[in-house]
Amino acid sequence: MSKKDETPHRLDHEPFRAQPGKSFRLADHDPRYSAGLKSKKEGRKALADDIDALADAQKRLWADGRHSVLIILQAMDAAGKDGTIRHVMSGVNPQGVAVHGFKAPNEEERQHHFLWRPTRFLPRKGRIAIFNRSYYEETLVVRVHPAFLDQQFLSARRRELPLEDLWRERYEDINAFEKALVHNDTLVLKFFLNVSKDEQRERFLDRLNEPDKHWKFSAADLSERGYWDDYQQAYQEMIAATSTEHAPWYVIPADRKWFARAAVADIIAERISHLDLRTPEVSDEDREHLAQAREALMNEK
Ligand code: ATP
Ligand code: MG
Repeated sequence: MSKKDETPHRLDHEPFRAQPGKSFRLADHDPRYSAGLKSKKEGRKALADDIDALADAQKRLWADGRHSVLIILQAMDAAGKDGTIRHVMSGVNPQGVAVHGFKAPNEEERQHHFLWRPTRFLPRKGRIAIFNRSYYEETLVVRVHPAFLDQQFLSARRRELPLEDLWRERYEDINAFEKALVHNDTLVLKFFLNVSKDEQRERFLDRLNEPDKHWKFSAADLSERGYWDDYQQAYQEMIAATSTEHAPWYVIPADRKWFARAAVADIIAERISHLDLRTPEVSDEDREHLAQAREALMNEK
């Protein structure tokens, strides 16, 4: 039995997968849900197992060198994106993973199609890339604050389009872009860490009450919280429009950090384990060279 087989995946991922082509309501997803894992202790154990499975999966991905993995994390502030990345990737070889954070775009980026920016950070074959926020912000923060569009060099005609049409175009472009990635054997995994408004409040207060955590809080966090319902609406429509067969969204209950981390790790490990990864074949000629190398080393004085 291989090591992979010894690590059963405990979670049923179906409840988290936003069903492609079906209507999607965030209200149907409870941020406190933790089915399959009953306690923090169980969550930690599951995470530890999955970290091992991921380390193994990454080695096989690297050896195969024909596939790559793109992981996208989206969430409201304080939902735990950074901690999830840190924990989930703690066991993998840093050489094979790159994390890229998406802040507000600079002018050069705004003078291009919004999908120009991520192309430079896509994973090479054999590698994993993680996007901490992503091009999806173009349908989220920009949708909640359409004034950002004034800085996007849109033509007068496009600027006059009903905004609904503009978001629809962006969803279409994203779906086509991700399909192209899949055609190039990139596994596209998208996670929305679904934190509740109450839990965000607790985490902000925690940051404000502990001097060690002050640096994590910015005034913008509070003002964005004021747009909570607009963000929920933007997320809901975006997920409905871009959860596809080739790149579905996983909506991860995030009020319990230990659960969110374990669930994300479990899904990544499981999805990579289903890729057709192969260790490169060693030809007879290569084998001959290996034997000669061995011989030469054995005979070294
Ligand atoms: P943390 O607060 O945990 O450090 P973060 O991801 O919230 O992490 P910030 O520097 O606080 O990082 O925020 C980045 C900001 O950049 C977010 O408010 C996000 O909405 C904004 N942003 C990202 N992409 C775009 C975009 N395309 N257009 C405008 N704003 C964007
Ligand atoms: Mg922030």
